[in-house]
Amino acid sequence: MRRTLVVGNWKMHGSRPANAELLAGVLAARPFLADVAVCVPFVYLNETAATLAGSEVRWGAQDVSQHAQGPHTGEISAAMLSEFGCRYAIVGHSERRAHHAESDDLVAAKAQAALSRGVTPIVCVGETLAERESGQTEAVVKRQLSAVIHTLAHCAAEMVVAYEPVWAIGTGRTASPEQAQAVHAVLRAQLQAATGRGDAMRILYGGSVKPDNAAMLFAQPDIDGGLIGGAALKAADFVAICRA
Ligand code: PEP
Repeated sequence: MRRTLVVGNWKMHGSRPANAELLAGVLAARPFLADVAVCVPFVYLNETAATLAGSEVRWGAQDVSQHAQGPHTGEISAAMLSEFGCRYAIVGHSERRAHHAESDDLVAAKAQAALSRGVTPIVCVGETLAERESGQTEAVVKRQLSAVIHTLAHCAAEMVVAYEPVWAIGTGRTASPEQAQAVHAVLRAQLQAATGRGDAMRILYGGSVKPDNAAMLFAQPDIDGGLIGGAALKAADFVAICRA
């Protein structure tokens, strides 16, 4: 039985007062039937950890370095994330693949770095609109996931996967539950074939999930929760999605 997981991706949003208000709203809405987490900008990890400590709400980062340490100005290592109690690190978000030229192999190395320090990578995969329209969706997501499976090898079953069609992120255009389910089924079959534990792994959907579409998406047999961007910035919306 897979427990639903809902993760807020704050991206580069927030301020200390806004974060305090948002987290207070989330904490006040407990308990949740789902597992709930927020992935916050690095500089807010310490305060987020202090605010959420003792609750069942987890926290994490939005990226991690593939390096363990050294001359990598501006980078944050998995060991540092684990010092701040991070449960999760998002890797391979489409914004990083597109704007920071992150390759499949780099994403895989980041996932491996996270796992080596006990931080669960949330590995994002997803096709662009052009790729979908030219019938490449399945090939693209399988290629992206395959790089991570290959690198993590026997640890691959420890990751969380997030299917995030690029055309649905921040656009207000959501994949239909059927479109999302079809891709999730492909990913689960790939995970099952590679690890033998795909049936127990969580595959999240991300891309314009809102309070009014979350329940339909999460009701699909292979959708185990969501990675939530814009709607994670308002406590009422995020809480409604966590309850969906
Ligand atoms: C995301 O950034 O991971 C995301 C899914 O964003 P949004 O919910 O705003 O589409």
